Amino acid sequence: MRLYEYEAKQLYKQFKLPTPESMVAGSLDEVSKAVDKIGLPVVLKAQVLTGGRGKAGGIKRADVAGQVKSLASEIFNKTIRGFPVEKVLVEKAVDIKQEIYLGITLNRADYKITVIASAEGGVDIEEVARKSPEKIARLEFDIDEQFYDFQALGLAKKIGLPSSKLRSFASIALSLFKFYKSYDCKLAEINPLILTAGGEFICADARVSLDDDALFRHPDLAEKGIEKRHEEGELTPREKQAREWGIPYLDLDGDIGMFPGGAGYGIMGNDFITYFGGKPANFMDSGGGPSPERIARMLVLLDENPNVKAIFGARFGGISRCDDFAKGVIIFLKDHGLSKPMAMRMTGNMWQEGVRIFEEAKKESPELFEKIEFHGIETPIENIARRAVELAREASG
Ligand code: GDP
Ligand code: MN
Repeated sequence: MRLYEYEAKQLYKQFKLPTPESMVAGSLDEVSKAVDKIGLPVVLKAQVLTGGRGKAGGIKRADVAGQVKSLASEIFNKTIRGFPVEKVLVEKAVDIKQEIYLGITLNRADYKITVIASAEGGVDIEEVARKSPEKIARLEFDIDEQFYDFQALGLAKKIGLPSSKLRSFASIALSLFKFYKSYDCKLAEINPLILTAGGEFICADARVSLDDDALFRHPDLAEKGIEKRHEEGELTPREKQAREWGIPYLDLDGDIGMFPGGAGYGIMGNDFITYFGGKPANFMDSGGGPSPERIARMLVLLDENPNVKAIFGARFGGISRCDDFAKGVIIFLKDHGLSKPMAMRMTGNMWQEGVRIFEEAKKESPELFEKIEFHGIETPIENIARRAVELAREASG
């Protein structure tokens, strides 16, 4: 179960991890009250169960009273990676000298608790890992092993902190480790851990994921107002909609809508798109012998996703037949209309009939098909993937 930042910080505080003074607000009024109490400057932070809020405009600093309401309402009106913003954390702004990364997670490959630190904090740690892996320091522990003082000091040294800061960093790392184990975490992250101009460390962000199977060991969470969220609560609105329609669907963070056949074909499609330098916006499976209506709804999910720039529509007819597929696409074109360019091809079970239905409908109302680039059976799937990547690039200019 993923925690909201404000929930995670509440738990961090209990473990003596320093966090800025903050209050959570559910309305503009509450934001104003919080600002009165905390005092300017403040940072307003969208509370959503996803990262990268900064980049998405979900984090704003207010220096003067006149800015507060308009900045807060901008954030409340946002949807970040599919999550509407219902709460905003009002937090005392921090004077940043350096941003550090500190995180603890379970390495599933070797069952070790892994403590990760880097002097290049604030940004995506995956990005740092890719570009400059030498800037990341790691320590691994068996589940019953202790994290000793000297190891924490060594970690601080390894990321290049000055000797005057080693001890205070070490104590934060040790506290986070204690927290991690006490609450059966899967992930506990502080990014950024800010070193202030005044020379103090403060946890500016908090990301925590708890092991659902161990939640029963922590009845105190409910007393703190941290209720067990249904898995549903962690689905994006589009994923929820897909679930209601019986479509296995996952939002990803790219810009190519994936409209494949079965799950295997979908995985292969996502691989091809990535291979050609594109990024899928979703993973989807048609959910076994889908009706034309369900096919149509799959396209609704993609066409209404503002992140989608182009659609990959290569279909292999297995149990789900190409004629049903063609009918579904046509229902969608007539009822909804396609606003994104789509590269298409169909092959497999009943493909001739599918193509015939398609061409007949196109003769009748060619305007519906304007956005579709239809390829013949001789075009291999990889070429469709390459075209989808090109179409997405053209669409983003
Ligand atoms: P995230 O984008 O969802 O990871 O949210 P963060 O809380 O990590 O904030 C993103 C970035 O905002 C940080 O890495 C800082 O560079 C920047 N920032 C600037 N001033 C402040 C501040 O006073 N407090 C916090 N939390 N972040 C600040
Ligand atoms: Mn962060």
